[in-house]
Amino acid sequence: MEKSPEDIAKDIDVAAYYKKAENAQKEIEKLSIQQRIDLLLKANDYVMDNQEKLVDQICRETGKTRFDALSNEVFSIGDFVDYYRKATPKLLADRKEHTSLIMMGKQSKVLLSPLGTILVITPWNYPLYQMFMPAMSAFLTGNACIIKPSEYTPLKGVFEALCTACGFPENAIQVVYGDGRVGGQLLDGRPDKIHFTGSVATGKKIMAQAASQLIPVELELGGNDPAIVFDDVNISRTANGLVWGAFTNAGQSCTSVERAYVHSAVYDDLMKEVIRLTAALRFPEDKAEANSGKEFDLGYITVPAQIDIINKHIDDAVSKGAKIECGGKAVENTQFFQPTILSGVTHDMLMMQEESFGPLLPIMKFSNEEEVIELANDSVYGLSASVWSKDLKRALRVARKLKTGNVSVNNVMLTEGNHALPFGGTKDSGFGRIKGSYGLEGFCNVKAVILDKQSKLIDPHWYPQSATKYNTMTDLMRAFFMKSKKWLKFASSGMKMDSLGNKEKL
Ligand code: NAD
Repeated sequence: MEKSPEDIAKDIDVAAYYKKAENAQKEIEKLSIQQRIDLLLKANDYVMDNQEKLVDQICRETGKTRFDALSNEVFSIGDFVDYYRKATPKLLADRKEHTSLIMMGKQSKVLLSPLGTILVITPWNYPLYQMFMPAMSAFLTGNACIIKPSEYTPLKGVFEALCTACGFPENAIQVVYGDGRVGGQLLDGRPDKIHFTGSVATGKKIMAQAASQLIPVELELGGNDPAIVFDDVNISRTANGLVWGAFTNAGQSCTSVERAYVHSAVYDDLMKEVIRLTAALRFPEDKAEANSGKEFDLGYITVPAQIDIINKHIDDAVSKGAKIECGGKAVENTQFFQPTILSGVTHDMLMMQEESFGPLLPIMKFSNEEEVIELANDSVYGLSASVWSKDLKRALRVARKLKTGNVSVNNVMLTEGNHALPFGGTKDSGFGRIKGSYGLEGFCNVKAVILDKQSKLIDPHWYPQSATKYNTMTDLMRAFFMKSKKWLKFASSGMKMDSLGNKEKL
């Protein structure tokens, strides 16, 4: 008999997981950075070699299309590894930092050391990639990792098989299955850091629980991403981009286009093209076709409760005057939801303010740059955005003013496609950055070190204090720190300070 979620939570031996992680971390730390990269490369080859099996399992658990599973999960893993295999040695190398003249003779360094055990809690929309990317970033930086995957898409056994096949140190990456209760219990084991990807509501709970033990958290949360379309765009490219950005993964992406603002001069043409493209997407007509095994362009909604949110947003918009241009409902008795375009939308509607996380694209008209920046920023979220214009100067100007963590220009959801770039949000979309140099630093103790020489001399600011020392220090400071430096005065007061220190000590 399968255990109930309550029993699973009851049976979790949190302390045992952390003990195993602690022992594993000691082994990971002994590996050189190149040895860790070699293991990452093996993991990558394992994923590529087992692509079909993994795609099958992802599709079975999420309901996404095979192409979505391939391009958003397997491809993204390949690209992640390709970036870090080359970048990691440089990113993790000791850094030499500037040492002020006033500290002459000393050396300043920054060392990146592992934190210990990282707890990675993941959602259901990109289950493999959302586990692989933070867990491997933690491993590269020398940490052990405990993953708590979504109860809806656990991908049971995948990481265990991968770690064994590739020869990772035992328990370097452990996976603990269960729902939010298990996640909460794992927090009580006091990880050295929590990397959470999921909803705002859960993010807040995790942060509150972590605060009581001062556990650092990184939160990758939801979004309500705007697309801004100016009057000089190529209609076909932009319409295709918006349709893909809104409907890829059936809209279940944190950076999906959730609202579009289109300049009034191109609104009619763009709307016509977006509707034409959406109507042409391959999608099941009824339950029989949904179950026929045919290929579609959109998969289904993974978690049934999400369909209620999507319906609520549509009902709310229609009741406030929006018009459904196409789509608008779920395919009866299935979890497929029609790709839906809405016009006549306003900012008091739920779908313009909250995350729908489904295949909805509300489109609103605007007439000038200032107005559209204000509309785009009128959100509790700040994850990502896209700006569409031939005028790249304008696009960059607008990108600079958007209060989001990422902006793609004349493209959509593309910043996260480049693993050299940091990824993360502002406002309710969370904080912290993953990927790029920030992605590794986030899992490190960023340690400052000063190297000084051993000698019989003492530093002049050490004890004892005296009025002469006070006055000499004043001269030294004024000569060195004030707007125009006085080098002669600096040299003479520096020498006096040195000899004062030494004289007083010797
Ligand atoms: P969710 O918050 O419901 O669950 C995420 C994870 O948290 C699951 O593993 C769940 O079991 C666990 N959890 C739930 N309650 C917990 C608790 N009290 N303590 C510890 N763990 C707990 O999110 P979801 O529905 O799985 O995912 C969808 C959300 O994730 C969307 O809002 C989406 O925008 C967001 N998301 C964000 C990003 C990003 O990078 N910003 C990426 C993907 C998804």
